Order: sequence, then C-alpha cells, then structure tokens
Amino acid sequence: METTVTKEMMAAIALKVVQRLCALQLLEIPIGVSNRHIHLSREDVDALFGKGYQLTPVKMLKQPGQYACAETLTVKGPKGSLNKVRILGPERKKTQLEVSVTDSYQLGFRPPVRMSGDLEGSVAFDLVGPEGSVHEDEGAIVALRHIHMTPQIAQRYGYADGQRVDVEAGNDQRRVVFRNVPIRVTETSALEMHLDTDEANAAGAVNDATARIIEPGE
Ligand SMILES: [Zn+2]
Repeated sequence: METTVTKEMMAAIALKVVQRLCALQLLEIPIGVSNRHIHLSREDVDALFGKGYQLTPVKMLKQPGQYACAETLTVKGPKGSLNKVRILGPERKKTQLEVSVTDSYQLGFRPPVRMSGDLEGSVAFDLVGPEGSVHEDEGAIVALRHIHMTPQIAQRYGYADGQRVDVEAGNDQRRVVFRNVPIRVTETSALEMHLDTDEANAAGAVNDATARIIEPGE
C-alpha cells in the first residue's frame, strides 16, 4: 500500500519535533547530592536510642516530608567503620543504609546498586548508637541514581514512571552523561535528580546545579 505524505503532514511532524525539543531544553532538573545516610525502623530507633525516643528533625529536604535528623550513628562493616553517619527521617518500615562505592571500600563490603527500598539480598552491617547496637542481616545498598518527578511534570514533558533516560550533568571540565537513569513519578515529590557523592564528584556536580535529559535511555 502506498502512503502519500503531504506537505501539511510534514509540517505537522516538524512542529511536533520542535515543540518536543523546546520542552526538553526547558526542563532543568536540580541535582541533589546524597551523602551516605541511614533510614531507621521504629524498632531500631528504640534499640539504638532508647524506647520511645523521637528523632530530631534539623533540616527539611527537597523531597516533601523528608528531613535530616540531628542524630548520627556509627556504621560498622566487615573491615572498618564510618562515624557520624546522618539519619534521615521519617522512620521507615525497614532500616536501610545508603553508601557510595568509596564508602564501601572503607567498610569492607560490596553492596548492590539498588533503588531505595529494594533491599532483598542486599548486604549486612551493624549500627552503633548511644543506647545500643543493632545487627542488620540486609539493608546496605549503593543507591541507584534516579529522577523524582510529579505526575504533572511527567505528563507535560511526556515521561512515565519507571522510564529510563540519559541525562547530561556536571561542570564544564568534568561534564558527563549519566545513562539509563530511571524516573520515579510520585504525587509527593519535587523535581530533582539524586546522585551519590561518587557520581556527583565524577561529574563536578554540586547541589542545585542543573541536569538535562538529552535522549531516551535503553
Ligand atoms: Zn531520591
């Protein structure tokens, strides 16, 4: 079957492409650099700080409802430890430790690169607090980089939850393209790309610098 492509059809397609490119140019995604941190279950707050202890929020994070706490803990791995690792609130169902690959050398283990919350088969570690210690059979991960987006922004720019994209970020000297970055679309989010300290340092990227989606990932 023969299809006739008219001038009008070509013009309409060209317009769509230009509109899409313009939209991509406009979407500046602030970068949030995640240092090593801990999310705690209620049970572990009790064990580490004493029964009924309430964590102290000191700084609200860009993601709504998330905050840094005044409290820190010592993290122990098979070969070493890290002091003063920040706790992020609110409490979660399961305790989770997020470290960079550089941190993992210090601790002496090799956690898998995972999306936050995907802890099955992740790595064991110990936490030491002022009132006690806990051993976790799993829960240590290297966080998988990702972009947070509201449904409104996703719809406007044509993205879907779970979609992977390529993102350009960083300063002029170390500018890199992060490939296959998953997008997380949730109502309670702010537009932000989360990188860990290794990734941010490799790109010369700092907090609130902007990243840009350059093309679809695989
Ligand atoms: Zn995040």
